[in-house]
Amino acid sequence: MLIKTSAILISAGLLLAAGNSSANEAHGKASNAPHSKAKADPSHWSYEGETGPNSWGAMKAEFGLCSNGKQQSPVNITEAYAQDLEPLQFQYQESKTTIQNNGHTIQLNYDPGSFLQVGNDRYQLLQFHFHTPSEEAIGGQRYPMVAHLVHKNDAGQLAVVALLINQGSSDNEILKKLWEKMPANHNETRGYDEIKYNAANLLPSNRSYWTLMGSLTTPPCSEGVRWLVLKNPLYVSAKQIARFKKEFAMNARPLQSLQQRAILDSN
Ligand SMILES: [Zn+2]
Repeated sequence: MLIKTSAILISAGLLLAAGNSSANEAHGKASNAPHSKAKADPSHWSYEGETGPNSWGAMKAEFGLCSNGKQQSPVNITEAYAQDLEPLQFQYQESKTTIQNNGHTIQLNYDPGSFLQVGNDRYQLLQFHFHTPSEEAIGGQRYPMVAHLVHKNDAGQLAVVALLINQGSSDNEILKKLWEKMPANHNETRGYDEIKYNAANLLPSNRSYWTLMGSLTTPPCSEGVRWLVLKNPLYVSAKQIARFKKEFAMNARPLQSLQQRAILDSN
């Protein structure tokens, strides 16, 4: 999950890039160095090697929860307790297309005015993005991908709907439309006012779900996130999965310990 951190990282990246390119101009060189410079930034976390998930917690004081949190995500969903839970009501409007490659995932920023209602709780949809494989495991198995739909209520609390993605026989039409516009460069955002879609059309008709409290799955791994994992997946083609993997071969955090938490099942 990527919320405000990505914005901060992006602006940090842009500042570095800007500083660097002016330095390069002063020396009369082309500016192809910003990327290697950004790698030296201790906040430049990744999914592999020395800046990978096992190091996140030690990279910065603000990332501490990544190593010592007690309610971290993602988790393996095995045992869940059946309960009469409030249904998920998706009150989504159409949005124009704003698609961003933030260096960690492909993210679709959503126009204001779309809401998820769960009982008395109302959250606004901010953005959704993708991971491969799925960060959540179900009975120890990860899906090829997952979409995380990130919502926030007026009190600033986050609710993330995880939409598992499985391989099917045909292209998903919405993703086809969106991913044609996928920016190839990190820290690049493209907007298309004329391309409109409704994210509700990605969702399965059966909205039964598992739920637990957890965290952002990316630094700073902040807790207090309400996770809602839809049981029924979205199907996309093998070609569409491959298209995402071409940009991000692996961007899933390892499974985290459940510790004292229970997972509830809406049935
Ligand atoms: Zn995510």
